[in-house]
Amino acid sequence: MNDKVLVVEDELSIAKFISRGLQREGYTVLTADDGETGLNTAFSELPDLIILDVMLPDIDGLTVCRRLRDAEMQTPILMLTAKDAIPDRVAGLEAGADDYLVKPFAFEELLARLRALGRRKAPIETSAPLTFNDLTLNPSTRMAQRGERNIELTAKEYELLELFMRHPNQVLTRDQIYERIWGYDFGGESNIIEVYIRYLRSKLEAGGEPRLLHTIRGVGYALRES
Ligand code: CA
Repeated sequence: MNDKVLVVEDELSIAKFISRGLQREGYTVLTADDGETGLNTAFSELPDLIILDVMLPDIDGLTVCRRLRDAEMQTPILMLTAKDAIPDRVAGLEAGADDYLVKPFAFEELLARLRALGRRKAPIETSAPLTFNDLTLNPSTRMAQRGERNIELTAKEYELLELFMRHPNQVLTRDQIYERIWGYDFGGESNIIEVYIRYLRSKLEAGGEPRLLHTIRGVGYALRES
């Protein structure tokens, strides 16, 4: 699937310049023209990369960045800063951004930075074990552990659990889950998500452990402690 990039930028000409270029390169592009919309879109769409302008009309880019990191969103963030605003760059990295780019910039420069950020997250995503509470998921063996108890997972169960482990404490909607795991739009008729959640719960709770996969009524599911 194509990498999904969220562009948070209020200057329409720059936002268009970036999104057209990225679309030509095969990225799926989402845009937001203020900080609040940027935050909401990041949480609802779970993009793979975020391009975030510092100067925004409502919540500034630094605050947006900090809030995303406070919510444990690990998505790579590239900040756009004004020319020669060195305090902005330092503040951006301190707020949790991964890199910054000074305006004005050439599109090729932006693309190179994005590709570097995409590559940087890739090895971590494929190998490092993910943990939440007493649950561990090992991407290299595709096995789970609850405490000392080993849990074997089918391919789809693994993918579904990995999605939750990469977004702990976040409510994932049925549409998000469907799109990520099954890769096409959800018609609303299938109960396949419920079925797989049930499989996962029975395996994760087979030793009498407390529930970690919770139903959020009318919305979706979340991996959290209660
Ligand atoms: Ca701006």
